[in-house]
Amino acid sequence: MTTLDLNWQSDALDPTLGFFEETLAIRGGYHRTDEGEHGEAIFTTSSYVYKSAKDAADHFDGTKKGNVYSRHTNPTVRAFERRLALLEGGERCVATASGMGAILTMCLAYLKAGDHLLCAKQLFGSSVALFDTYFRSFGVEVSYVDCFDNDAWQNAIQDNTKILYCESPSNPLAQIADLRFLANLAHDNGAMLIVDNCFATPAIQKPLELGADVVIHSASKYIDGQGRVLGGALVGSNELMEKAFTVIRTGGISLSPFNAWVLLKGLETLSIRMKAHCDNANRVAEFLSSHPNVQKVHFSGLPTHPSHELAKSQHTHLDVQGGAFGAIIGFEVADKDKAWHVIDSTQVISITNNLGDAKSTITHPASTTHFRMTPEQRVQAGVNDGLIRLSVGLENVNDIINDLKRGLDEL
Ligand SMILES: *Cc1c(COP(=O)(O)O)cnc(C)c1O
Repeated sequence: MTTLDLNWQSDALDPTLGFFEETLAIRGGYHRTDEGEHGEAIFTTSSYVYKSAKDAADHFDGTKKGNVYSRHTNPTVRAFERRLALLEGGERCVATASGMGAILTMCLAYLKAGDHLLCAKQLFGSSVALFDTYFRSFGVEVSYVDCFDNDAWQNAIQDNTKILYCESPSNPLAQIADLRFLANLAHDNGAMLIVDNCFATPAIQKPLELGADVVIHSASKYIDGQGRVLGGALVGSNELMEKAFTVIRTGGISLSPFNAWVLLKGLETLSIRMKAHCDNANRVAEFLSSHPNVQKVHFSGLPTHPSHELAKSQHTHLDVQGGAFGAIIGFEVADKDKAWHVIDSTQVISITNNLGDAKSTITHPASTTHFRMTPEQRVQAGVNDGLIRLSVGLENVNDIINDLKRGLDEL
């Protein structure tokens, strides 16, 4: 008989043996059932059966631990959570239906009216919309500072600041927040540091090791890695994750078992994919910075990037020649028409705003992802009309470079 194990820290491997991360990504977190399946099973069930009325009552009053309903727990979702917790080095992970679901959970679990949320300006657009449209109206104070400006973070701290929140590297200019500094600043002021680790992934950077309290993921990006499903997650201490879990199961922000299975399999190849993404991105950044029609390249892997050394000191987990800086590159040509020409000259790279996919993607932020901002806001965010954002995929790097070169040479 299969015994249910709701111990969130448990792992199919004996953790005291100290396995390497690539092994944990493939073997960790899954408890094989008595059927002996080698591939992980998908439990497509909404509810669970009890042995007796007493057994049901014991599950409800907590005497017995076990599955009750898949909005609360599901074995496939738990396997994904355990595996991601192992990779981020957190006590526990709780999965959500999407990355935005994780950010919503963060706000509901850790903020109340009268609290102050201090954020980086360089955030995913929907995160800003969520904070400004909804949480302000619930009485949460929200303010924004440049993610790389330590003095600005320090000056913006208030007595009621509860969360410092950032992405690093950020999109689309690859700006880097000093996570060790921000963790200390948060803790000295009775607040938490929460980091959206979507662009680096645990294969490159582990924010909890640098002092963050919670890591947020949009698993829809590199964790899936092939643009198939939506998913999200939070990782941190048992205490903080229990609060998040209560919000998820009560609010119904739960991840579907099928999506959890896709993401569980995505984690198996995460580090090998990220290595190839980073290798390709380093080569593409080098090509772009030497092209006469490219005015500026935003990529922390370039020695000229103001946060190059900081990025190196935070991105310590992946052995890539030239360093691991992720695979999102911003680059500028003279104006919007030229940017559109480069984009329209591609054959391999997809024109889409998604990123973190095996397929390279290209987008013009000023007319798509940042379209709703006023021109002044765009200037402030560094998104000018000639900016192009590239998510470097896993195609042969020469094809990616040639795809860009075609349009760039014609400018
Ligand atoms: C895409 C993204 C999100 C939102 O994730 P979804 O899974 O699309 O809800 C959050 N943060 C970052 C940095 C993202 O790129």
